[in-house]
Amino acid sequence: MAAGSAAPGASARPWPQLPAVDKLLNSAALAPALERYGRQACTQAVRDALDALRDQLRAGLPLAPGATDMQAVAEAAQARLATRFAPRLQAVFNLTGTVLHTNLGRALLPQEAVDAVVQALLSPANLEYDLATGGRGDRDDLVESLICELTGAEAATVVNNNAAAVLLTLGTLAEGREVIVSRGELVEIGGAFRIPDIMARAGARLVEVGTTNRTHARDYAEAVSGDTGLLMKVHCSNYEVTGFTKSVSDREVADIAHGRDLPMVVDLGSGTLVDMRQWGLPYEVTVRETIASGADLVTFSGDKLLGGPQAGLIVGRKDLIARIKKNPLKRAMRVGKLTLAALEPVLRLYLHPEQLAQRLTTLRLFTRPAADMLAQAETLAPALQATLGPTYVVETAAMASQIGSGALPVESLPSHGLRIHPASGRQAGRQLLQLEAALRALPRPVIGRIQTDALWLDLRCLEADQQPLFAEQLPLLASQLHS
Ligand SMILES: *Cc1c(COP(=O)(O)O)cnc(C)c1O
Repeated sequence: MAAGSAAPGASARPWPQLPAVDKLLNSAALAPALERYGRQACTQAVRDALDALRDQLRAGLPLAPGATDMQAVAEAAQARLATRFAPRLQAVFNLTGTVLHTNLGRALLPQEAVDAVVQALLSPANLEYDLATGGRGDRDDLVESLICELTGAEAATVVNNNAAAVLLTLGTLAEGREVIVSRGELVEIGGAFRIPDIMARAGARLVEVGTTNRTHARDYAEAVSGDTGLLMKVHCSNYEVTGFTKSVSDREVADIAHGRDLPMVVDLGSGTLVDMRQWGLPYEVTVRETIASGADLVTFSGDKLLGGPQAGLIVGRKDLIARIKKNPLKRAMRVGKLTLAALEPVLRLYLHPEQLAQRLTTLRLFTRPAADMLAQAETLAPALQATLGPTYVVETAAMASQIGSGALPVESLPSHGLRIHPASGRQAGRQLLQLEAALRALPRPVIGRIQTDALWLDLRCLEADQQPLFAEQLPLLASQLHS
């Protein structure tokens, strides 16, 4: 349809004259945008703004007064540019109570790691260059000895994430062969990672043994055949089997495997490097203990309990790691220099356990005393109440944070925060969703969680240095809620 012809049923009002693209681009109103975003993007934005007006006219929709003025069209174009050029990856406040939140990027890294990443971005580095000989190096060398020291393993390699670590391990050691796993350990992590699917992709045949709740040593032993490639244990990261249960220890499965000259592999998931009980946290088996129990290879994530960048670590027997490194898929799954730059200083923090709880961001968040969050809640509650007005009730409340990312799913960490609920029961559901949306629309979006007819903001992950930024933007909520 030609611009200017009215659609059937559209009002018979004559179309207003729209400003010309050239005129707009040369107007004083768009000069700053032209400087900032360039001519091409500005032309596009102006055309899109004009097209939107034409669409509205064609549809017979009423325009705001003055919507077709130079100034108004320039502003509309600028708004389009601001949206187009705004970063899509944005910092948010994670007040969900889940510290390692996969959807919010898991572990936050300490400053040492940030500095190393910045340096790796700005300057060439000896990523695969042996400074002693001037010859070619191996990128794993940058962290391998550190990982071995911290886990007791003979060798180590690093890939993109733990899913890749498992895939590469199975694909290297068990392609075309059988892998024995307990039915109680066929986990699904976050929808896309399922042990049976990964197994199929790796070209290995899954042999399930035992039942969902009980697996015995003899189940493993009886399943071993000439086709067996390895025996595998998978950490039940995100669930717990309780009640009438029996599982076989790493040690026993390793003994059965070794009796038949087969390797035993453990997918540990989180894979902590230290016993977290020393900070009053729940027990989680360490990588070192798993190696000591006889596992030939252990895989785990870099950005879960370890507190580093997204990565998958494979540690264990030197001959097996060597085979994995020779697999061409290793090249496809290898990590970049930014990951290694971040991982190295994080691992080094573990050499100084006395300061770990202060310096490793994730551990500092796990161990924040509940009294800190209570004090914050008491400061923030009146400010938030003042902003929200009488429609909502803001209270301080005790809550339970989760470690997250499948680590220790049934354990929780005592915390405090803000519990907000609509003052009246009428339309309470809609008001809660409105509040949640308004918090998400703040310059630094605030992500909470709705539970039992209230919005919960767990303050565990709002460290003191972040609190002013959080408090400063609260007044903006009032206008968003009432617009
Ligand atoms: C988290 C997890 C994975 C996947 O790790 P990513 O680093 O997210 O790829 C695999 N296995 C287990 C047992 C896990 O807990």
